[in-house]
Amino acid sequence: MKIVCIGRNYADHAAELGNTVPSEPLFFFKPESAVLHQDHPFTIPEWTQDCHYEVELVVRLDRAAKWIEQGHASRCYTQIGLGLDFTARDVQQQLKKAGKPWEKAKAFDGSAVLSREWVPLTELGGDVQDLRFSLLKNGEVVQEGHTADMLFPVDALIAHVSRYSTWKTGDLLFTGTPAGVGPVQSGDHLEGRLGGRTMFALDVL
Ligand code: ZN
Repeated sequence: MKIVCIGRNYADHAAELGNTVPSEPLFFFKPESAVLHQDHPFTIPEWTQDCHYEVELVVRLDRAAKWIEQGHASRCYTQIGLGLDFTARDVQQQLKKAGKPWEKAKAFDGSAVLSREWVPLTELGGDVQDLRFSLLKNGEVVQEGHTADMLFPVDALIAHVSRYSTWKTGDLLFTGTPAGVGPVQSGDHLEGRLGGRTMFALDVL
């Protein structure tokens, strides 16, 4: 299983980090060892002083796909989840400045939080580009997203990635984060919501 993450897929988030909007999807990978699930607590790595939450809609691929066209990509998934793409922002900024890959800042253990459940898209209204999700930190909403605001819709992301890397059954697509990213500290409590459902709730150690 691999995790494909999309960077800068919401214009308001690209702007808050001072990034330009990409002309094609920007993607990177997280390894399976990055997964944190079942509401397991998250431990901030000792080598970062600025670890950020990024709440993201997650799509689970139920079939393999290579060179799939955007118009056919919706056949590849039925299940939707919610996740966090934890990012060591200080380390990422250093790597970006040096023109180096981001893995150290993005692919570490625990950096891919997954929801408790996968919800059939049909139960969520059937339109992947009409879903609302949010992240609460210590009971206050810090991020709110609507998938209609994605720069590249889910089907375009699946098609684009499939030109470079074959999708396998069970692979996960983190679809990018809306504005409002920020740091976590020890003692924080994070709760992710999709529609009216609580999808994950975890403590930061
Ligand atoms: Zn992200």
